[in-house]
Amino acid sequence: MHIQKFALPLLLVSICSLAKAYDPADKVIVKPGNMPIIFSVPHDGDESLGWISPRSKGATVRDADTRELAEKTADLLEKKTGKRPYLVIAKFSRKFLDVNRKEEDAQESAEAIPAYHHYHEQLAGFVTEVSSKYSGNALLIDIHGQSDDPGTIFRGSRNGTTTKRLLKRAGNVALQGPTSITGQLQSKSYQVFPAIDATDLKEDKRFNGGYIISAHGSNNATGIDAIQLEFGKRTRENASLASDFADAIIAFQNKFLTEAPASN
Ligand SMILES: [Zn+2]
Repeated sequence: MHIQKFALPLLLVSICSLAKAYDPADKVIVKPGNMPIIFSVPHDGDESLGWISPRSKGATVRDADTRELAEKTADLLEKKTGKRPYLVIAKFSRKFLDVNRKEEDAQESAEAIPAYHHYHEQLAGFVTEVSSKYSGNALLIDIHGQSDDPGTIFRGSRNGTTTKRLLKRAGNVALQGPTSITGQLQSKSYQVFPAIDATDLKEDKRFNGGYIISAHGSNNATGIDAIQLEFGKRTRENASLASDFADAIIAFQNKFLTEAPASN
């Protein structure tokens, strides 16, 4: 007979928690760094967003081990140089939200949109920060995994478009030469595409770069140079990958991002 007395408050509590089913800040790992490199990892989360249903269209497969690769590489960079890259890592599953798509194609429920905005706002904040600290000489690396070609690491930059500033400053060699990031990985026996001896910047259509690099890349006035790396499944199983990736970033940074930081 006391049940009715509690039914209304309980119902109100339920409605209130439905209205705010999750906190977007809990769904994205955001860690500031102190070097001109930002890692974005959009596809290795496994968490839900409230009670929304999985998307019915578009790719929903998880880029396994890419979060671990980013975090391990960040730790190794700190160990080797004393400096850490900035990190933005999705904890939510791509089944519910794909931040590497335009907002209208990224979700099928309005409830996913706050997480979408949070991910991109954090990235944009870091892009603005490194751009001003390092006079625009900074690189965003959007980290992915693919299984179509398990032995290959594909670079995407929309055929050089999202690295417009770097190409203008240092030439194609910065994106594809021996001291480019993929060039360094190739020198450590990884198969990369495009290869360093390719005559142009043409990339594989399947992996030439998604929304993240095009939204935050130097094709935009306020962006920074941005590349997408699609690590093949077998390359992600290589225990040396994080260390080799860290070394590749250090070599690239020493050659192409060495301009003195802007004074505050
Ligand atoms: Zn991906």
